[in-house]
Amino acid sequence: MTLTVDITARDGAARTTTVTTTRGSYHTPLFMPVGTRGAVRTLTSADLEELGVEIVLGNTYHLMLRPGAELIARHGGLHGFAAWDGHVLTDSGGFQVFSLAPHVDDDGVTFRSTYDGSTHRLTPESAVQVQELLGADIQMALDVCSPLPSTPAVLREAMERTLAWAARARDAHRREDQALFGICQGGTDVDLRAESARRTAALGFAGYGIGGLSVGEPREEMLPALAAAISELPDDRPRYLMGVGDPLALVDGVALGVDQFDCVLPTRLGRHGTVLTDGGRLQLRGAAHRDDDGPLDPKCACAVCRRWSRAYLRHLLMVDEPVAGRLVTVHNLAWVLALMDRIRAAVATGTLGVLREEIAGVWAPATDDQEARGGVR
Ligand SMILES: [Zn+2]
Repeated sequence: MTLTVDITARDGAARTTTVTTTRGSYHTPLFMPVGTRGAVRTLTSADLEELGVEIVLGNTYHLMLRPGAELIARHGGLHGFAAWDGHVLTDSGGFQVFSLAPHVDDDGVTFRSTYDGSTHRLTPESAVQVQELLGADIQMALDVCSPLPSTPAVLREAMERTLAWAARARDAHRREDQALFGICQGGTDVDLRAESARRTAALGFAGYGIGGLSVGEPREEMLPALAAAISELPDDRPRYLMGVGDPLALVDGVALGVDQFDCVLPTRLGRHGTVLTDGGRLQLRGAAHRDDDGPLDPKCACAVCRRWSRAYLRHLLMVDEPVAGRLVTVHNLAWVLALMDRIRAAVATGTLGVLREEIAGVWAPATDDQEARGGVR
């Protein structure tokens, strides 16, 4: 195996682990910021190091179109190109491609570039090869994302095709320094979720993504589907809940046994002046902060909160200084990473339930807000 999992503590189904790859180690439960086009928007690799980020995610769809995987390979893959020594995980491109109403057949998927309208094709094999060129430490198998809502027949077809593609991705995978994760689908149907996870696990991957959740379904349907998938996944492999990053879903996911998460939520909100704090969301554009000398979050120890006031940051935001979005992004990521530290500490001390109540008290109400639940990437 290209990756080993050392479970260091358990609290119910939740666990903390140290995952070791050919690059080094990372520690779960873990949040992975999204570096869509080779950078987490407004940040540099040096910023990510300072924040303590262990894995950054790259979007294969964007990178294969601009600047192209071959060019990135000539510059040392994403690590050399972006001068980043931490872990990189690339998605398969499927999530973006399936949002473009592509042509899908048993062999693969054909889509038009949102950059210039040119036609491209991804197959399970080519998605592996593109990600080999990108050089990620962890790559994802190409899966079929079914729309919400989907009929049972559509969900089953997407799941069967995802399984067939997973087997082909596994057979195409060559680089031993790259771990390949399979992806479970099945919508919110718990039986289909369990079957998908069981049959994906039987194919034998280094880790497992759980895709197609938090795409607009109610939380009370998402959590049973997630639990059903995890119940069929091996204990000694990482479980990655894809595209989920709102605070309550992070805690709930960990409680069910999730190890890794990614989401654009903290960075996208940050660029628009929405601040994540221990008291909930804060809209920095609000007039209440115009003269406020205090930091974004009094309990936050990040570089931004240590140095600049709400009044100053709000001013930068109101006059559209580009650095405003960057500074709130730094804070929001620091806040989410600090939450993950608290989650790991709670698992280690058997107090995740207490932390869950605290987080639910602040973050539970946003039920009809798609972005609040993190269903964005
Ligand atoms: Zn801060």
